[in-house]
Amino acid sequence: MSTLSDHMRNGDAGPTDDHADAAELADIGADVGTDGPVDDDVTCVVQDLPARLRVRAAELAATINPVNSPFTQAGLPDGGLPDPADLAVLTSKYWGRRRRTLTVSFVESTAAELRQRILGHMNAWGIGVRFALTSGVGQVRISRAGQGYWSYLGTDILLIPRDRPTMNLQGFTMATPEREYKRVVRHETGHTLGFPHEHLRRSLVGRLDVAKTIAYFRTTYGWSEQQTRSNVLTPLEESSIMGTPNADQDSIMCYQLPAQITKDGQPIRGGLDINLTDRGFARTIYPRFWPFVDQTDWDQSADVSIESALTQEHVTVG
Ligand SMILES: [Zn+2]
Repeated sequence: MSTLSDHMRNGDAGPTDDHADAAELADIGADVGTDGPVDDDVTCVVQDLPARLRVRAAELAATINPVNSPFTQAGLPDGGLPDPADLAVLTSKYWGRRRRTLTVSFVESTAAELRQRILGHMNAWGIGVRFALTSGVGQVRISRAGQGYWSYLGTDILLIPRDRPTMNLQGFTMATPEREYKRVVRHETGHTLGFPHEHLRRSLVGRLDVAKTIAYFRTTYGWSEQQTRSNVLTPLEESSIMGTPNADQDSIMCYQLPAQITKDGQPIRGGLDINLTDRGFARTIYPRFWPFVDQTDWDQSADVSIESALTQEHVTVG
């Protein structure tokens, strides 16, 4: 994600924000090491829509938030309009900058305590998009029964049939350690907000040894070569990435990848929680506050006369 210094230069967060963030981050270390089961053999895959829906999804994303369109970001290309399927690959899936609430429901019967705990971690991003539980069918639908950790990306969730989940948190219970809530629930929520995997940035993919990476994912997760190539070894098109000049291996959206599969023998550290850079970038996409606009004046033609004001002095309640 983008650098914090970029974010500070843009003036999106004042010192108060950053003190608050520092306090939140200082809190992180406290519960690392909490007892409880952890599925080390579970990893995250961003869910893709069926191929037949990808062009529709790109149109929807650009309608909800025109900034998603590659044309908005880069202007019309030379040589005419590209194929819609090619454009779909370049289209991001962010919700718009307007403040909004996304509703959340659970596919399986889920105790109130667990629902609230998951919701609290979804809202830990602290941005202009909030998540709220609904007793009906939510825009975000969470299952704990499916396999793995996953979410669809951003506005794609609106194209998922309403009887199907948009996010899966395999086996999450109240016994799951707090650190896993931070690492997994916040990460999957990042996908729901439209953030792709940070380890797919070209500079991080370029550090991976292809053969070792394929072997590692086969051994650790049972993935085929094709699954590893598409989920780990195929970099994102840089033109589809909004405002993020540098890859951040400590991003919550980055996998932890071991030293044994990198060319330089150094691990890709991966994020365990939303870091300051993540939060700063997320707030540029989803500001929490709008600039102050003076709403105390109007066009002179609408001024109320004394006569008209007096007619409103005594109103009848009815
Ligand atoms: Zn993921």
